[in-house]
Amino acid sequence: MLSEKMENALNEQINAELWSAYLYLSMGMQFENKGMDGVANWFKIQFKEEQAHAEIFMNYINQRGGRVMLKPIAAVDTDWATPLDAFKDTLAHERKVTALINNLYAIAESEHDYATRDRLTWFVNEQVEEEETAQQLIDKFTLIGNDGMGLYMLNQELAARTYTAPSILAAE
Ligand code: MG
Repeated sequence: MLSEKMENALNEQINAELWSAYLYLSMGMQFENKGMDGVANWFKIQFKEEQAHAEIFMNYINQRGGRVMLKPIAAVDTDWATPLDAFKDTLAHERKVTALINNLYAIAESEHDYATRDRLTWFVNEQVEEEETAQQLIDKFTLIGNDGMGLYMLNQELAARTYTAPSILAAE
């Protein structure tokens, strides 16, 4: 059974993951509007990944006999001038999410909830990848600057991204 403190914290995280999904969907829609379909594709897949993160937490709360309590999702920005701006915001946001996950991990330890701590390990590792990927894309867009051909090619590269459900969900 989950402690009340742990259950509340996990429910907060569901909201944070869904807010992340909403943020990336907004980014995807803005770049679709600008005709950058590859960049839009990357963010729309990120939208799905964040929904999957929320789903992992929801499944876990249910598995532990807790109650999922969905809360309102706050508004997100709707304007990014360039992909570089959006990826800078992505990195800043993912760093915040990493801090949230670390805080959940600390709560799990203080509550002696080792099952939750173990489940969070997946997210700890996932955040390393999220931050690394955002940084790599910042580096690429910075390198290209305003070069039209470079932007065209990088947009094509991001168009190739496909969605794969996290193995942790596939196993459930
Ligand atoms: Mg996430």
